[in-house]
Amino acid sequence: MAWTERQHRLLAAMGLRLLQPPHSEALGVAERPAPPADAGVAAPVAPPARAAAAAEPPAAPRPPAPTSAPVATGALASLDWPGLREAVAACRACGLCERRTQTVFGVGATQARWMVVGEAPGEQEDREGEPFVGAAGQLLDRMLAALQLTRADEPGAPPERQVYIANTLKCRPPGNRNPTPDELATCEPFLARQIELLRPRLILAMGRFAVQALLRSDEPIGKLRGRVHQYQGVPLVVTYHPAYLLRNLPEKAKAWDDLCLAAEVFERQGGA
Ligand code: URA
Repeated sequence: MAWTERQHRLLAAMGLRLLQPPHSEALGVAERPAPPADAGVAAPVAPPARAAAAAEPPAAPRPPAPTSAPVATGALASLDWPGLREAVAACRACGLCERRTQTVFGVGATQARWMVVGEAPGEQEDREGEPFVGAAGQLLDRMLAALQLTRADEPGAPPERQVYIANTLKCRPPGNRNPTPDELATCEPFLARQIELLRPRLILAMGRFAVQALLRSDEPIGKLRGRVHQYQGVPLVVTYHPAYLLRNLPEKAKAWDDLCLAAEVFERQGGA
């Protein structure tokens, strides 16, 4: 597919209009078309033991109380995908386990070459068990589709067009509040193991908390975007979270630049 075509699709997907079409097949970062000026337009405590009444059935086993202890990275190192998924589903390492409907592990083909890392499940994700299924997810899917990328795990699909999506936190923070540093640190080994298993060619980190967990940086996205970082030897590009883009339409133009950079870095590595 020609780069120019892709750019057009990306712009359209993001609700941007191109005033002057890009003309370079192999765009460098500096040569990337400027975004249009009108970008914006277009613990619970275990119950006390009770003396069992003769007539009562035996009490169902209670899950252990949350511990707020980091997940042991060593214990995850030998887990494969199904084992890791089970470990996440059983996790009670922090208080978020108390109010989750279910854990949200990740979605996509495990041979995908692209990886998107978001922040934490919201209400809808908690209900459905899949990351990015709400409004922000729909924008994310349009952005990915513009690059001919998909989260769908279809047999025979080329891995270089497939994306695996995971969050930094696997449980929803109540009321969609921000994750705490403790929660991020506690959950991070799960994400690290997902990345180890996937070995993506490129990671797109979306939003402040994804960046904090992966780059251990408190710098704002605005300072970190526009260049290529590394996580476990994998190139990592930082961009704004789609939920933020929905609230700040003019920033879509910058996210467009970030996606161009990601696609360019991916292709520079030989794509497949
Ligand atoms: N925001 C995220 O970062 N992840 C989701 O899964 C949903 C919204």
